[in-house]
Amino acid sequence: MKVLVTGGMGYIGSHTCIQMLAAGIEPIIVDNLCNSKLAVLDRIEALTKVRPAFYQGDIRDEAFLNQVFSEHEIQSVIHFAGLKAVGESVAKPLEYYDNNVNGSLVLMRAMRNAGVKSIVFSSSATVYGDPSSVPITEDSPVGETTNPYGRSKFMVESCLSDFYAAEQDWSITLLRYFNPVGAHPSGTLGEDPQGPPNNLMPFIAQVAVGRRDTLSVFGDDYPTPDGTGVRDYIHVMDLADGHVAALHKVAQQSGLHTFNLGTGNGTSVIQMIDAFVQASGQQIPYQICPRRPGDIAECWASTDKAEQQLGWKATRDVKQMAADTWHWQSNNPQGY
Ligand code: NAD
Ligand code: UDP
Repeated sequence: MKVLVTGGMGYIGSHTCIQMLAAGIEPIIVDNLCNSKLAVLDRIEALTKVRPAFYQGDIRDEAFLNQVFSEHEIQSVIHFAGLKAVGESVAKPLEYYDNNVNGSLVLMRAMRNAGVKSIVFSSSATVYGDPSSVPITEDSPVGETTNPYGRSKFMVESCLSDFYAAEQDWSITLLRYFNPVGAHPSGTLGEDPQGPPNNLMPFIAQVAVGRRDTLSVFGDDYPTPDGTGVRDYIHVMDLADGHVAALHKVAQQSGLHTFNLGTGNGTSVIQMIDAFVQASGQQIPYQICPRRPGDIAECWASTDKAEQQLGWKATRDVKQMAADTWHWQSNNPQGY
């Protein structure tokens, strides 16, 4: 099976390509490299002995996409490409809506031109906003998002749902990721944020490796056991396996399929720091700072639906997430 992977050079896309190849699925990668490096392709090749087809270009360029579709018998698309920094989305809403929403619409048009009717979309737990209860099931209310990034994900979900209502021979899969962290166990592939990391795990890793002095812990007065924010961190290799499961189980069946991809476990900021200290043997100096605007106290996934319908369940624990992140960061202190 050949699968077009938009954003396949990025953090989650690259790990997913590795697991796809291991499962005998051929990725065809499209990426404009706005947030990734060509070196990723070499790393994928070194790990798998396969150099996937790679097209450098923008998903908003319909003629470019038509050309890629014309060159391969593509059965499905996994759509990772997009911008993902919450703070930047507040400063640059136009860029975010153009890239994430318009980009997805152009991609859908190119798919329709090519007769490819199966898409797996990278959505996010952010569409649930501040949940009224945890664990969050797929039926929980969506749409109360607090920033342009989150709204762009919700908009694409809405566009895809409307599209499915009109064209029910399509297979549309919305995967709502919780908090992806970790790296390939080889230490050769991992997350490589440009500029100061926005997310907890890469920030901790950069403090541990000496690139940054101190971690800011955003709030210790939440109604959680230790007062710091609680999230459902999921190892990127588990997330990658979740995509392979989606390709096998639902991406060939028409329908609108929605799944949480999380572990079902909550971990606080302080617990994550402790796990990282244990895994790395490094000190992580931190200071308690005010809450970050827009943050919620806690969230974690109900994983029942994915287990039942995809036959998939995350298996890697927080210890493994910290160990693999440290392996990657210590081997690649400056990233790729
Ligand atoms: P990433 O930035 O590492 O990967 C995205 C890739 O898409 C990059 O390689 C970038 O160069 C490419 N890209 C961006 N705009 C493009 C365009 N217009 N045309 C072609 N390529 C383009 O991000 P990631 O962490 O791998 O996330 C992948 C997807 O998952 C994103 O859609 C993101 O919003 C979503 N997601 C990520 C997280 C997370 O915490 N990492 C959580 C939930 C959802
Ligand atoms: N966080 C923190 N310091 C940081 C980055 C994040 O204390 O430098 C906290 C944040 O407040 C939240 C948790 O870590 O409670 C996860 O934040 P992240 O940005 O990684 O993910 P998201 O906010 O998308 O869940």
